[in-house]
Amino acid sequence: SKVLFWFRRDLRLSGNQALEDAINNGATEALFFVCEKQWQLHNTSEIQIDLVKRRVDYLGNELAKLGIKLHVINGESFDVLPSKLEAFINEHSFTQIFANREYEINELDRDTSCASLGAQLHLYDGDVLCSPGSIVTKGGEMFKVFTPFKKAWLAQYSQYIFKISEFIRPVGESIPWQTPTLLTSNGLSDKWPVDDAVLSQVIEQFLEDKINEYSEYRDIPSIKGTSGLSPYLALGIISATDLIARIQQRIPDVLYRTKLSAFTYINELLWREFYRHLMFIFPKLCKSKNFNEKYNAVQWLDDENAYTAWCEGNTGYPIVDAAMRQLNQTGWMHNRLRMIVASFLTKHLLIDWRKGEAYFMSKLIDGDLAANNGGWQWAASTGCDAQPYFRIFNPITQSEKFDPDGTFIRKYIHELEWVPAKYIHFPHDYINAVGRQCYTAPIVEHKEARARALDAFKV
Ligand code: FAD
Repeated sequence: SKVLFWFRRDLRLSGNQALEDAINNGATEALFFVCEKQWQLHNTSEIQIDLVKRRVDYLGNELAKLGIKLHVINGESFDVLPSKLEAFINEHSFTQIFANREYEINELDRDTSCASLGAQLHLYDGDVLCSPGSIVTKGGEMFKVFTPFKKAWLAQYSQYIFKISEFIRPVGESIPWQTPTLLTSNGLSDKWPVDDAVLSQVIEQFLEDKINEYSEYRDIPSIKGTSGLSPYLALGIISATDLIARIQQRIPDVLYRTKLSAFTYINELLWREFYRHLMFIFPKLCKSKNFNEKYNAVQWLDDENAYTAWCEGNTGYPIVDAAMRQLNQTGWMHNRLRMIVASFLTKHLLIDWRKGEAYFMSKLIDGDLAANNGGWQWAASTGCDAQPYFRIFNPITQSEKFDPDGTFIRKYIHELEWVPAKYIHFPHDYINAVGRQCYTAPIVEHKEARARALDAFKV
């Protein structure tokens, strides 16, 4: 029997059980499909595609040192990928394939098509802390509220000691590696390291310096108070299991001490988990459907100008605009800001969350269907355990609360650099009074927009 390992969104060598088992079963070859057409269909951002390519190139090189050959093949899109895989396994006589499951509907369909091509496909749950469907209510159903989901997970796992990932051992002599043209990088993601030694340091530094103040600073966009690891988690470069293991190494009883700042961080990893389980159990989430069908009746506005102003960061609400400019310039946005801009688009502008979801996907380096859809439907109030529709973020008070001296706003809206903190959150009266109109007038008025949203959601 000849064994192949197939990389997907599990771009790591350590803490990858499927890869370990493949190697233990004799694998000396691995495979990655570059699927530019499919990525386009999925709205994947250029910056994320670049990160994928750089990381796969890195893996190819690391694997070569261990004596494992990585094949990089043009898979185009999922409709032709199975026939390409079939040709590949026939050519090389593979009889078994090991891989990690992806829970999105197109990916699951792809796997169904790839299951009967002549090689046996062994699928693992390597992207989650536990298999979707294994944390359920007494009645055997998926939880529809996060807190009881979390409690049920803790009941099952708080005694569990998560294992720190170990590196895999060489299978033979080192072999040469040359970057295939399919992996040519355009440098867009260069600010994000892909080397495991560097990433390990980044994680350790976060655990050493930041995690104990995470709950205090995680909501302040001008401070680097969060881990910044989302792009790596989204691509499986780092696993949530490994992160929890490293936290447990420092605080062995962290899963019992839910008031600790470090637990607040784990709590976010559990939100990630919750959204993944939901997506698997409710495939309609992959089909752009409202989780809560009650809101199918909401009449979204088809306002292209307002949508463009939002995308470009020209709404006249500084915190919203600064956030959108951060996204456009860096490919990443702080979580508090994601909530503010998503609320603004869906409530203040009454624009369909699906348009925001798609825009985020096309720009984010950490774009991830489950988390992104979860976040958007949370903000739009259409989601599972979502923000109630009548709770509408006021972008001005949010700004005063989370960017009190305007540091974040000034970083991304240079035209407001000179405005005193007192006025910066909604500077229009002030800049008019001093005769320096340097910034877009607000495209909606807060109170009116709020009333309009409440009306629209009452249906
Ligand atoms: P940290 O605060 O360090 O959190 C640790 C990890 O937990 C993150 O890396 C991430 O993997 C996970 N996480 C944190 N918050 C959430 C959450 N609310 N839901 C699910 N997982 C979470 N996250 C993505 O990874 N991809 C997305 O496409 C995405 N889209 C979002 C869209 C909206 C509208 C909203 C409100 C949130 C979205 N999030 C998304 C969740 C969250 O904003 C990011 O994960 C977080 O900002 C990433 O920064 P960090 O790694 O420093 O987070």
